[in-house]
Amino acid sequence: MSDSATNGHDAARTALPPDAGDGTRAVRAGLPEPVKHEPTLPGPVFAAHFHLPGDPTGPYTYGRDENPTWTLLEDAIGGLEAPGRDDVETLVFASGMAAISSVLFSQVKAGDVVVLPSDGYQVLPLVRAQLEAYGVEVRTAPTGQDAQLDVLDGARLLWIETPSNPGLDVCDVRRLAEAAQARGALVAVDNTLATPLGQRPLELGADFVVASGTKQLTGHGDILLGYVAGRTGAPMTAVRRWRKIVGAIPGPMEAWLAHRSLATLQLRADRQNATALRVAEALRSRPEVTGLRYPGLPDDPSHEIASRQMRRYGCVVSFTLPSRDRADRFLDALRLVDDATSFGGVRSTAERRGRWGGDAVPEGFVRLSVGAEDPEDLVADLLRALDASAG
Ligand SMILES: *Cc1c(COP(=O)(O)O)cnc(C)c1O
Repeated sequence: MSDSATNGHDAARTALPPDAGDGTRAVRAGLPEPVKHEPTLPGPVFAAHFHLPGDPTGPYTYGRDENPTWTLLEDAIGGLEAPGRDDVETLVFASGMAAISSVLFSQVKAGDVVVLPSDGYQVLPLVRAQLEAYGVEVRTAPTGQDAQLDVLDGARLLWIETPSNPGLDVCDVRRLAEAAQARGALVAVDNTLATPLGQRPLELGADFVVASGTKQLTGHGDILLGYVAGRTGAPMTAVRRWRKIVGAIPGPMEAWLAHRSLATLQLRADRQNATALRVAEALRSRPEVTGLRYPGLPDDPSHEIASRQMRRYGCVVSFTLPSRDRADRFLDALRLVDDATSFGGVRSTAERRGRWGGDAVPEGFVRLSVGAEDPEDLVADLLRALDASAG
């Protein structure tokens, strides 16, 4: 028996030119060194345990701790979030919430202060209640205007979500991270909406980048996934330990599908995001549309800071129609856009966000996720549905 115990899947970041572009990095991300007669991307390794005679040393011992299919995916995501850095470790999780909870609950204890966004992902209020039940003090402030700056004193951890979901406000990550770290706080950034091709929070000074891979990162609406990346050291070791304790691990099949999907991330993001801008431009001329937000629109309130720290503005456009009824009729009239939650997939989706009750949004607020359809078809469908839902 070979002692490498990696099923031929030894993760070795294939050497890329340091200036390789996003498309090149996406298609090669996390691929192992070529091995004659082996596939380019080795298939999923289904194993609850691994052959392990003698002392139980790694890398692969038990399936809740490590899996070769995760290793390749972790290498791929790490290569996109922190290109060229060997001191960054990436961990994959069963979902974005598993990743978020693993950072928060592994880093804070009773008596600590955590700062969350007041306008972030709709499950954060539940996380807040759980943190408070454990004796953690939670403060919140909006994402826009860097308002979290005002509540940082004494904080142990600052949680940033930019652009925020669903309101699409953007904050200055570098400014907030410097202020928080000067006060001894750790900084985590939820990078779900932007993806690592849109912004790299670790380069902007964050200690952790955390995201749901369920959205544009994998982009097909068929798997849930999450990840955390950060500098190797005690905080990341605690996150790894938390993954082991709660067992919030992705299945090998999901991990492999995610890795396969990453190859098209740049293609999907460029197409979807360019269409999102066209859609936003088409919607802004409509009198029934108010509160239109897309960070890529030059006159969007988020554009100035977004253009400094982001390389792509995402595929989500939000806006408000005059009433709940009008929004429902509009969603009903769409033919190319599914009425469904989530975002980032190749098929466009939209929903009336107020139906969930968690977000502070008007009744007619619509979150639209732009897919990979032909832009002309999509714009035509949206404008036709606006007409059809009038009156
Ligand atoms: C969807 C989402 C999450 C949660 O991810 P899951 O994979 O659904 O657990 C977290 N943060 C943001 C910004 C999201 O959009």
